[in-house]
Amino acid sequence: PADVETLGRSSWTLLHTIAATYPTSPSPSEQSDLKSFIKLFSKLYPCWVCAEDFQHYIKKQDVRTDNRQAFGTWLCEAHNEVNRKLGKPIFDCSKWEERWRTGWKD
Ligand code: FAD
Repeated sequence: PADVETLGRSSWTLLHTIAATYPTSPSPSEQSDLKSFIKLFSKLYPCWVCAEDFQHYIKKQDVRTDNRQAFGTWLCEAHNEVNRKLGKPIFDCSKWEERWRTGWKD
């Protein structure tokens, strides 16, 4: 299997890209699909310690699916929680859309 770092980078790319393409005015069914996806993702994520912590986080901080901005910010904060745990720099969440939607490269 992919190592935890490679898996992590690819997974954050997938998740933040889902946020970047999530509607600005999602329908109720789009909102419930996103909630279900995140919940199932947190159960199936193939790094078990990571998955367990992410499930705990979701229980404390309910997934915000009201619109793109709400979900993108929620996800950025969830990612920052992992950054904090790993001693990585905290990302400025006012810039998530610039990083993941309108584009800059790293
Ligand atoms: P990554 O953290 O993978 O980030 C990739 C890019 O995203 C960065 O280069 C930056 O441009 C951008 N970015 C950084 N922070 C944010 C943010 N807050 N919001 C938006 N964009 C941001 N690893 C472990 O060792 N232990 C764990 O418990 C663990 N839990 C994880 C849980 C989940 C749900 C996921 C998806 C990954 C987890 N990982 C965990 C992996 C870890 O988060 C990193 O992906 C991995 O260490 C590689 O880090 P990186 O420095 O390449 O950047």
